Amino acid sequence: MPMTQAPFPASPDTAADRCDVLVIGGGPGGSTLAALLARQGRRVVLLEKARHPRFHIGESLLPANGPLFDELGVRAQVDAIAMPKWGIEFVSFQHDFHSLLEFSEAWDKNQPMAWQVRRDVFDEILIRHAAAEGAEVFEGCQARKVDFDADGATVHATRDDGARRQWRARYVVDASGRDTLLAQQLGLKQRNPRHNSAAVFGHFTGARRLPGKLEGNISVFWFQHGWFWFIPLADGSTSVGATCWPHYLKSRSKPLKEFFLDTIAMSPVLAERLAGAQLVDDKVWATGNYCYTASACSGPRWLMVGDAYAFIDPVFSSGVYLAMASAFKAVEVVEATLDRPAAAAAARRRYAAHMDKGPREFSWFIFRMTNPAMRALFMRPRNVLRAKEAVLSLLAGDIFGRTPIGPSLRFFKLVYYLSALRDWRTTLAAWRLRRFNIRDVGALEGENIAVEGR
Ligand SMILES: Cc1cc2nc3c(=O)[nH]c(=O)nc-3n(C[C@H](O)[C@H](O)[C@H](O)COP(=O)(O)OP(=O)(O)OC[C@H]3O[C@@H](n4cnc5c(N)ncnc54)[C@H](O)[C@@H]3O)c2cc1C
Repeated sequence: MPMTQAPFPASPDTAADRCDVLVIGGGPGGSTLAALLARQGRRVVLLEKARHPRFHIGESLLPANGPLFDELGVRAQVDAIAMPKWGIEFVSFQHDFHSLLEFSEAWDKNQPMAWQVRRDVFDEILIRHAAAEGAEVFEGCQARKVDFDADGATVHATRDDGARRQWRARYVVDASGRDTLLAQQLGLKQRNPRHNSAAVFGHFTGARRLPGKLEGNISVFWFQHGWFWFIPLADGSTSVGATCWPHYLKSRSKPLKEFFLDTIAMSPVLAERLAGAQLVDDKVWATGNYCYTASACSGPRWLMVGDAYAFIDPVFSSGVYLAMASAFKAVEVVEATLDRPAAAAAARRRYAAHMDKGPREFSWFIFRMTNPAMRALFMRPRNVLRAKEAVLSLLAGDIFGRTPIGPSLRFFKLVYYLSALRDWRTTLAAWRLRRFNIRDVGALEGENIAVEGR
């Protein structure tokens, strides 16, 4: 893969270089938007604080990523490095069978598969693609602060050798992910009062996967403190993580690796799949308190894409898709602001509606995912009034297109409410437990990502 890193100019400490758009963060959101804007002939600068390839969690993608890969022109590259994912396996401690859902059963039968990717490899494809489209990519360069004025902004950055650098940009995109640079600087970041989650995860070799074509499916195992993901990757390793209540992670009184292995033992089916498997490099990661939203996703000369705006929960593997979809939608706002200012306000309103739709659609399910009534529906999905197809479309990320899943999803929700009501004692107990579990327990180690290992 070509290294297309642009050189720093000779006088980095004083020169405020000019660009049309400065993108902060070279993850899926930032690299996608940088590529799309550079393709239009705009001068785009992309700052990435790390150097690719760099580790990132979030390896399971959705069928809805496919059309975005096509438009970007990266599908063949992604196909080459990914494990094909045809569906989802749900395993519940309350049921003695597994539920296997296939994307081919979704409403739109044209997107039957998705991808499992190592994010170091996938994200590198995207950032190199942005450079190939003409964006000037600066890795090892962290944006620190943005000063806005009427014509644009000055972005202050520090390279990883300590040198400082400024850019003058007509427009700034915050794609800094969970670092949420602008949301923090502008005081817009809000903890999500309705959800709270933490995760502990690692990679294994030698995990026992599903047979045949099902090998690349993601498996979700519920357990008493949350749920596990099991994501088979093309290099033979398998990503395994426990998404759990923050207080459970905070209760840890032993080394992270031991804590993780003990947690895995709480799901006998998962433990059995990992019998004899080896933890890669003995590395275990933890991350906490990752549910938040910013109170605005754009301003006169800036917008946020992806996790820089909001993140709720990884259970539906929607993060990378939502980040890339927001980048596609953001193009219109940048174009309007720079070329047709009279259209900017309307473009920003449409963008805000788009940014709220994704988290809203998934949130209803996320907030109820650990409820026994919801578990039962996922374990035995029925296609009455096409409810199963509609839910599968949601799981495939088909939420922004023209697929008319709305009425069937509403029917699914009605069925949920009725079954929750029928078993109201269990529902109430689960609701009370959830309210207790999502309480704010303060900062956790690894507010971003911590690692223990060799
Ligand atoms: C435990 C867990 C599991 C997950 N599992 C999944 C999954 O299976 N599937 C899925 O789709 N999503 C998953 N996600 C979510 C997914 O990781 C994110 O939604 C996705 O990476 C968002 O992309 P992004 O481009 O917005 O941000 P990121 O991918 O986080 O990229 C942001 C980039 O900005 C850089 N950066 C940050 N600050 C600065 C700065 N100041 N200056 C310069 N660069 C900066 C970072 O180094 C990073 O490269 C998971 C998340 C968590 C927490």
